[in-house]
Amino acid sequence: MEFAPLNKWIPLDEGPLVIAGPCSAESEFQVLETARQIATIPQVKVFRAGIWKPRSRPGSFEGIGKIGLSWLNKVKSETGLLTTVEVAKPIHVQEAVEAGIDILWIGARTVVNPFSIQELSESLSGIDIPVMLKNPLNPDIKLWIGAIERLLKTGHTKLAAIHRGFSQFEKSPYRYPPHWEIPIELMRIMPGLPVICDPSHITGNANMVPHIAQQALDLEMQGLMIETHFDPLHALTDAHQQLSPSSLKTLVENLVIRSPKGTFEFERSLMELRHDIDQIDDEIIQLLAKRMDIAKEMGRYKSTHNITILQLRRWKELFADRMLKGQEKGLDNYFLSNLLRLIHEQSIQIQTNVMNEKKDEPNDDPNTKK
Ligand code: PEP
Ligand code: MN
Repeated sequence: MEFAPLNKWIPLDEGPLVIAGPCSAESEFQVLETARQIATIPQVKVFRAGIWKPRSRPGSFEGIGKIGLSWLNKVKSETGLLTTVEVAKPIHVQEAVEAGIDILWIGARTVVNPFSIQELSESLSGIDIPVMLKNPLNPDIKLWIGAIERLLKTGHTKLAAIHRGFSQFEKSPYRYPPHWEIPIELMRIMPGLPVICDPSHITGNANMVPHIAQQALDLEMQGLMIETHFDPLHALTDAHQQLSPSSLKTLVENLVIRSPKGTFEFERSLMELRHDIDQIDDEIIQLLAKRMDIAKEMGRYKSTHNITILQLRRWKELFADRMLKGQEKGLDNYFLSNLLRLIHEQSIQIQTNVMNEKKDEPNDDPNTKK
């Protein structure tokens, strides 16, 4: 699996790639005014704008359509920025390519559908244009990898993945929680694939964007896609998460660029710390296994006494108690509640399995035999 490095398809200087622009192209003035202001930030190399907008419900602004492509052309000739739009159908690909758009991206709602991805890959076959693939809406790494593989199969190597967070039913401080472990796993499975972070959709909140942007760079992501609008409050889509060009400038100037490798001394101390982490992880695994063994035992016990698995009151008390203890130790509430729920879910699963096994066991008890 060979991917073209990012600097083979986007001229980069020092530092990460920044892609910026409004969520949606709304008017020629809005597009050009935003682009002019953004173009003064040296790290911004690509201008983004949605032309065809996938909206959850009909009746809201669904994108300006094809006419927006000509505005992007003006952006390119006036500012020199490369341009990128979202494509969801082969007709979008055709129109964007004909209009001279430089890079395409495929959105989260399209990456979930292998039929759409297959169709798009075929429509792109023989066209030398870079494609960026957002993660699918749901936290399913296979769909993301599958979409990348489909494009690779049609000969595309100028590819990048965009991490934009994942849908979640539970309440969260994020619009789409990042689940960092998923893009990290993607980087492990597909080395060489450039990964770009979209902190705008992850946070859904302009104030939180700088923090997530920094975190992405600290995790060795190679670029950022940040929604930027010359007048965010009046944006027709995603108004809460768009930055003004001046906030984007501040964000970019404040990014700390850390090196992936340090001095020998540094690496040695890091190794020691990693060793400690490895040991703690081993202990956590052993304790978890022990806890699950006890859950199994409880399952058997409940089954013998015909007691239901879920004891709601006990779970509530346990949850409150562990959250309190975690808080005292300075653990993050969101992290700890997710962890506790996961452990509890697994305990319930184990107990259910035990009950089912018991149910299926041949009944040797002569007293209860029919
Ligand atoms: C967007 O970038 O504006 C967009 C619709 O993104 P996503 O596919 O990540 O929701
Ligand atoms: Mn958006």
